Amino acid sequence: MNIMEIFETMEYGPAPEDASIVRNWLEKHAQFDLFINNQWVKPGEERYLESLDPATGKPLAQVAAATSADVDKAVAAARKAFKSWSKLAGHVRARYLYAIARQIQKHARFFSVLETLDNGKPIRETRDIDIPLVARHFYYHAGWAQLMASELPGYEPVGVIGQIIPWNFPLLMLAWKIAPALAMGNTVVLKPARYTSLTALKFAEIVQEIGLPPGVVNIVTGEAGQVGEALVNHPDVDKIAFTGSTEVGRSIRRATAGSGKKLSLELGGKSPFIVFDDADLDSVVEGVVDAIWFNQGQVCCAGSRLLVQENIADRLLEKLRIRMEHLRVGNPLDKAIDIGAIVSQSQLRDIQKLVDQGVAEGAEIWQPSWSCPTDGYFFPPTLFTNVSPASTIAQVEIFGPVLVAMTFRHPSEAVALANNTRYGLAASIWSDNINLALDVASKIKAGTIWVNTTNVFDASSGFGGYRESGYGREGGKEGLYEYVRPKHEGAAPKPARKVAQEETPETVESSLPAIDRTPKLYIGGKQARPDSGYSRPVYGPSGRLLGEVGEGNRKDIRNAVEAARAAASWGSNTAHNRAQILYYIAENLASREQEFVSRIVQQTGSGVGEAANEVQASIARLFSYAAWADKFEGSIHRPPLRGVALAMHEPVGVIGLACPDEYPLLGFISLVAPAIAMGNTVIALPSPQAPLSATDCYQVFDTSDVPGGVINIVTGDREALAKVLAEHDSVDSMWYFGTAEGSRMVEAASAGNMKRTWVNYGRSRNWLLPDQGEGQEFLREAVQVKNIWIPYGE
Ligand code: NAD
Ligand code: MN
Repeated sequence: MNIMEIFETMEYGPAPEDASIVRNWLEKHAQFDLFINNQWVKPGEERYLESLDPATGKPLAQVAAATSADVDKAVAAARKAFKSWSKLAGHVRARYLYAIARQIQKHARFFSVLETLDNGKPIRETRDIDIPLVARHFYYHAGWAQLMASELPGYEPVGVIGQIIPWNFPLLMLAWKIAPALAMGNTVVLKPARYTSLTALKFAEIVQEIGLPPGVVNIVTGEAGQVGEALVNHPDVDKIAFTGSTEVGRSIRRATAGSGKKLSLELGGKSPFIVFDDADLDSVVEGVVDAIWFNQGQVCCAGSRLLVQENIADRLLEKLRIRMEHLRVGNPLDKAIDIGAIVSQSQLRDIQKLVDQGVAEGAEIWQPSWSCPTDGYFFPPTLFTNVSPASTIAQVEIFGPVLVAMTFRHPSEAVALANNTRYGLAASIWSDNINLALDVASKIKAGTIWVNTTNVFDASSGFGGYRESGYGREGGKEGLYEYVRPKHEGAAPKPARKVAQEETPETVESSLPAIDRTPKLYIGGKQARPDSGYSRPVYGPSGRLLGEVGEGNRKDIRNAVEAARAAASWGSNTAHNRAQILYYIAENLASREQEFVSRIVQQTGSGVGEAANEVQASIARLFSYAAWADKFEGSIHRPPLRGVALAMHEPVGVIGLACPDEYPLLGFISLVAPAIAMGNTVIALPSPQAPLSATDCYQVFDTSDVPGGVINIVTGDREALAKVLAEHDSVDSMWYFGTAEGSRMVEAASAGNMKRTWVNYGRSRNWLLPDQGEGQEFLREAVQVKNIWIPYGE
């Protein structure tokens, strides 16, 4: 094409980025080994896998296929390094992270080209988005390393972290994993994705260059089955941080259940992109381009469901088709390309399969008139209309450049459609009415909400899912807690308070109230007869019958969960109101202090003084959470864009609580109070050994204006009932304080709907001590963070 021709057609000429330096580097290496202890180590079986350029299908390099013995080596290196790395002053770790950030900036162009070659994404994106965000992530976390001692007192690093990442943002996902882990004093073994290991290996060179102590970062390439599973199952790995599909996340949850490994999961999504009729449609069109054609749509938070208000749908879709006709698909190294190559042939096949299914299910497909290059793995931008909300393409993550459009009339319909998936990763809302946008933002179940923008990220703003999009956050202060644990957890487990074996002193017994009626279950604010029609006896430590409680079963749990769901407005109540009710509970408990003291003595055989301490501590605890109710508030981030991100603390929803055997009253209150303070509704399972302190609370709750359904109590076989709760799809989180075996059961059962869990692995904690029995550790479990991005300006 000569200049005159270009002038005539106004076509883009080719503007390829020069890749020769990167290609030379690849040629020089040809074969990449494993990075363990800052050294390049040959894989056990000396097997290598090919890494391809998806834009051409041609090989780029060979990467080592590690064996499980190699994983052992890497974990051992990380374990050894942990001893000294975790003890370094925060400032020293900050310097290392700062050095990494600087080095990434210095090699930014190299990384951009390498990432584009290996992954197929446009150079425009690697250059302007991926790599700058990587550097920013290391800078930001250098800061947290510096501040850890003062900002996270009482916390320590977790240990050796196994990190498993996907292929869609290879280096960025590495940064999201490694930066916070190192900042908090952990060491890591990272497994890159099979198709995209190369930037991680270049990163390893940086690790060597800056002289990071050996073993702090280990990079083990290879196949999911070998390397991934070996890491997940390794007994000396203290935590798994995983980003990938919900399916694999679920299998990791099951595999690690009961092992005591901490777990964070960033999983899939099917995020809504909601357009109201007052939105600026030209901005919307550009937003859609960013939402679904950024990175070929291979984005976990891609706005893959376009929900448009009916009266503007035709107009918007027409504009969108015109824009799609002008998108450019092709050589990702070309600086004027919008859409690059799909990462692999198998991914391309999967996309095609789902698209075919969409057509077969009756949706209408539209693609631009031009065709894609055929020598690599390319797929055209695709729009589906006439899509039924229940159809496969409206529900399943396609992970490709495919948009499905649906319409709504009323905002409430938009919210219902938006929430009509099992996921909850992100959402984008377009309207010039800020009141409407924020109201809808508050109703959408997703970890990130973008108002009049989309797919923007920053290290300061925690990213992660609701529901089956996983749990845990990456980025922000909230993300740090994924890489620390309370110091008391690391200390040797203290023995549980023993239930005394001797007879309680006669004087106390004779002053006890007479055995009262069998307390029923407490469901929806009313006492409810157990479905089984049976009661179970409750004995004191000396074998004396103290009373009977209802024998709850599956059906009672179902009713209790329904009641808890129906009471969801508790969460949108004002925090002030919740605080007041917690104070009332404390007040009413205090007025019956003697009764509660006697009850504890009866059930546990403890001395009166000890029991009085427990009641006092329970009252104090209620005061603490009344105080926290309107103070555990979230924060406002100022990411580097014109605007803010509001990090809101939202209730998790319905929480199941299996209460500890130690401290029948305090254990129960210590779980119920933080959960309801943050706006959750609960189903509590009291200790089967000493349930009467919990059932005595019915009247306290009734007289304290606790709305029906906010607190439900089901007595009976705690283990069996906990299993029903952990399996229940309408329960959003399960806290379990019981045995090691029960903890394993809860974690395994939770994989059904990927609910959050918090279990004690059979370890006891000293509930009397405020630093173990209350505080932010509990509050964090009681909330999920939603980041709402609001740009400023016209
Ligand atoms: P994937 O789940 O197949 O693989 C992710 C990683 O896990 C890879 O490194 C893979 O080798 C490894 N892996 C696979 N099976 C394993 C097993 N049994 N045990 C241990 N490791 C195993 O996902 P993918 O196809 O690479 O990536 C696409 C998915 O990732 C999409 O669902 C997408 O939504 C999700 N994703 C989520 C986020 C997020 O932050 N939430 C970000 C990017 C991608
Ligand atoms: Mn590749």
